[in-house]
Amino acid sequence: MRDRQPIGILSFQGDFAAHAEALRRAGATPRFVRHMADLTDLAGLILPGGESTTMLRFLQAEPWFAAIREFAAAGRPLLGTCAGAILLARVVTQPAQPSLGLVDMTVRRNGYGRQVDSFTATLTIPRLGPDPLELVFIRAPIIESVGPSVEVLATWGDHPVWVRQGQIFAATFHPEMTDDARIHQFVFGLNRP
Ligand code: GLN
Repeated sequence: MRDRQPIGILSFQGDFAAHAEALRRAGATPRFVRHMADLTDLAGLILPGGESTTMLRFLQAEPWFAAIREFAAAGRPLLGTCAGAILLARVVTQPAQPSLGLVDMTVRRNGYGRQVDSFTATLTIPRLGPDPLELVFIRAPIIESVGPSVEVLATWGDHPVWVRQGQIFAATFHPEMTDDARIHQFVFGLNRP
């Protein structure tokens, strides 16, 4: 049964523990992913927030790029948050760095600058219902542009903050840092019977 299969969280660095709590709140079972074999039989995968350069060092030490692309090609849902969104992008700037290219978007690291590097915003996201969502941004990237196959699910200011390309989702904020489980439920289909 799909809802018995765990959802993985890439757990080299960053706020993977907060995502595990968020998944539990959303009614799912988390699995910390540190070895490629941990990807087996997962219902989905989260690339958490943290420091994308540090995560890249782990991802490039073994054929993780191929393994994650294969995971995505099998149609399983992915969610990248903040640093995780940077890893999913097609193009990364400030500075340029390798990325998985699973979402056709260009992201600029630390795009909100140093003076406002962490902030919260409140936003109503139609796809999640009428109740507003609190968005926590921590040294967040800015999504500068998206390709035609990318759907923008939420925009804050002039920039998309939550997007999807098929079953692959990227958020520049931290949905795992509030009690609101709707993003995790939406991405992984946990609110459907
Ligand atoms: N600034 C980090 C990076 O560029 C991302 C910050 C975060 O994930 N909260 O990787």
